[in-house]
Amino acid sequence: MHNNVPIDVEEAYCPDCGALVKNKWFLVRCACCNIKRTAHIHYDDIIPNTNYCPNCGSTEYYIEELENINFLNVHYAVFKKEIVPQGNFTTRQIWIEKEENLIEEKKLLMSGK
Ligand SMILES: [Zn+2]
Ligand SMILES: [Zn+2]
Repeated sequence: MHNNVPIDVEEAYCPDCGALVKNKWFLVRCACCNIKRTAHIHYDDIIPNTNYCPNCGSTEYYIEELENINFLNVHYAVFKKEIVPQGNFTTRQIWIEKEENLIEEKKLLMSGK
């Protein structure tokens, strides 16, 4: 269950099994009135805590993935620990590209062009 992976980081290596574990945060919203619904994880599925929206009575809902958790959502958000397959360095490559672009921009600025 990778219980020793802290939940306040985006991703970390599990100290128990060495897997790269990513924390993903989700928010359940009513599809009718868009209100945030409290939810929980049930066998890997995200389920609202109540059958009906407390605001409009609808049973329809949708799941939104959060970029990051903030205090406004902390009471509603549920999270899943997802294993990142080893050898998948997509995220890191994007970061390296961004840094290279920054260095290029700095060079341009310094050369006065
Ligand atoms: Zn683990
Ligand atoms: Zn509603």
